[in-house]
Amino acid sequence: MRTAIFPGSFDPFTIGHYDIVIRGLDLFDKIVIGIGRNSEKKECFPLQQRLDAIHRVFRDNPRVEVEVYDSLTVDFAREHDAQFILRGIRCVADFEYERNMAEANKQLGDVETILLYTRPEYAHVSSTLVRDLYSYHKDITPYLPQSQI
Ligand code: ADP
Repeated sequence: MRTAIFPGSFDPFTIGHYDIVIRGLDLFDKIVIGIGRNSEKKECFPLQQRLDAIHRVFRDNPRVEVEVYDSLTVDFAREHDAQFILRGIRCVADFEYERNMAEANKQLGDVETILLYTRPEYAHVSSTLVRDLYSYHKDITPYLPQSQI
């Protein structure tokens, strides 16, 4: 069985993230979404709320699981017998970051990273954008998966 973890902060989980998971399901039998803590990013939406929201999005899909994790990403992958890490890239800046992470994770845990390009229509969608809009009391629903609203 081909299993991938999809690690991220998902603060919040956007249509861009959703699209990566859906397309990833063509490549993997199972995807475990791992909500990790990113020490460099300040949390906006509470962890439990993010977990519940992603649960709701995939409640009818037995091939997608979601968990919070507090360990190294390669250890989280090992816990789930996952051979792959799934990530998405939108721009050159993402690419540089992802390359460093992929190299580190290959060295640390012999886990391969599979990168999917964003759909052009979602290239501008980021959790940061959604958090900014939210802080100004703007409508964020266009950026969230339908079932999360
Ligand atoms: P992290 O804090 O680890 O960067 P994020 O929650 O911001 O986690 O993102 C998780 C993954 O989803 C990253 O690989 C990121 O590049 C990707 N991603 C985020 N937004 C999009 C998008 N609009 N299209 C494609 N991939 C995306």
